[in-house]
Amino acid sequence: MTQPKHYHMSPEEFRHWGYKTINWIADYLENVENLPVLSQVKPGEIRAKLPAIPPQKGESFDAILQDLNQIIVPGLTHWQSPNFFAFFPGNNSAPSILGELISAGMGVQGMLWATSPACTELETHVLDWLVDMLGLPNQFKSSGTGGGVIQDSASSAALVALIAAREVAKADTSQLVAYTSTQGHSSIEKGVKIAGLRRENLRLVEVDNNYAMRPDLLQKCIEADLKAGLTPCYLAATVGTTSSNAIDPIPELGAIAQKHNIWFHVDGAMSGTAALCPEFRWIHQGLELADSYCFNPHKWMMVNFDCNCFYVKDRTKLIKALSIMPEFLKNQATASGEVIDYRDWQIPLGRRFRSLKLWFVIRHYGVEGLKHYVRKHVALAQEFAQWVSADSRFELVANPPLNLVCFRHQGGDEVNQLILDNLNASGKIYLSSTKLDHKLTLRMSIGQATTEKINVEQAWQLISSGG
Ligand SMILES: *Cc1c(COP(=O)(O)O)cnc(C)c1O
Repeated sequence: MTQPKHYHMSPEEFRHWGYKTINWIADYLENVENLPVLSQVKPGEIRAKLPAIPPQKGESFDAILQDLNQIIVPGLTHWQSPNFFAFFPGNNSAPSILGELISAGMGVQGMLWATSPACTELETHVLDWLVDMLGLPNQFKSSGTGGGVIQDSASSAALVALIAAREVAKADTSQLVAYTSTQGHSSIEKGVKIAGLRRENLRLVEVDNNYAMRPDLLQKCIEADLKAGLTPCYLAATVGTTSSNAIDPIPELGAIAQKHNIWFHVDGAMSGTAALCPEFRWIHQGLELADSYCFNPHKWMMVNFDCNCFYVKDRTKLIKALSIMPEFLKNQATASGEVIDYRDWQIPLGRRFRSLKLWFVIRHYGVEGLKHYVRKHVALAQEFAQWVSADSRFELVANPPLNLVCFRHQGGDEVNQLILDNLNASGKIYLSSTKLDHKLTLRMSIGQATTEKINVEQAWQLISSGG
């Protein structure tokens, strides 16, 4: 008997190349500190190294791995470098990588409870754990009327919250108004576009000296909209804005939202993780007023992208807004009403087993281990801020509440741009910028998993000597 022809890797080959692949990842992470943090390639340079046509005959896995080093790595910006201080962190960690790998190995698709009960139940369970870990209001637990779900990103979380808000509101979509601050994330505007609200019905409320939303001005906006016959339906506040890490006043904003029957979404994408530590839980004060909340373990909690934890106070509102039941998805478990089908909590139908990596991370580090890194990063950022304020050539633009320091050279935009360009061209560190009060502002974001004090000291040396 001849074997049927196939092209698969044999189990033995898979083991062999699997070990080699893990070694490749371990080598990469071990050496990443020595690579230029911001990729120095020019547009088109990577594509020019790739063959114009795909291979007709399969190639050896060895050749594929070799091309990683020669073609791909030079075109990477190294988010896992301890000298990565740009944007917000996008951490990974060994347990998270292994959880991701196993998720790929299982290859399950968890659109329904029935299509892999463990995929749904582990997710529900770990998201309930996180409510306790972060000290979030109990209303977000699945044991009551609420519950949590993993979305791919904070952008999707803001969008599904807006869609739920749109469905709950008793007015035509063209009459609906959404609110965030001038510092709210761009994903709110994108959500408004996608959800079909009118672009001119997004209000960007002005902020105070700390770049936090002003409740008095929100109230005024709402009153003006009501007077004009419009229907306020969605307020997105931020715990840790992307530009400057400002914390919006959740208690005051929540009270206004409640009074006017507005869906209140709180976006804690990066900073939410800080609430692992009781001393930082003040950032979530008033969160019981929120209809929905999200934070990104894929930023600052050692879970590799993508993993956004999204919570709602009343899951029926979300499910009503997103539920579909075509004939081909009907099954007994769903009909029994005893299970969660997460396809009704998100935009796509299909979903990956993302809770596995989250579970691995929480089990490996323990709550204690995760807290350790939050405290370390916040302490490093506070120390960095002291160095900035002690140097008369520089100024702090805002008091850093946590692990993001916004600062600038007193010499004006051109000087700051030059410092930034020099730093990033050096490959030694990677920093990004924003505009605050129309002035170019440097952002030192400290949250990469392996960043040590020595990295922050070196960064300040480079910055303070002009890059
Ligand atoms: C990073 C960030 C987002 C977007 O995160 P994604 O998960 O990439 O969509 C949204 N809001 C805030 C405040 C952020 O910092």
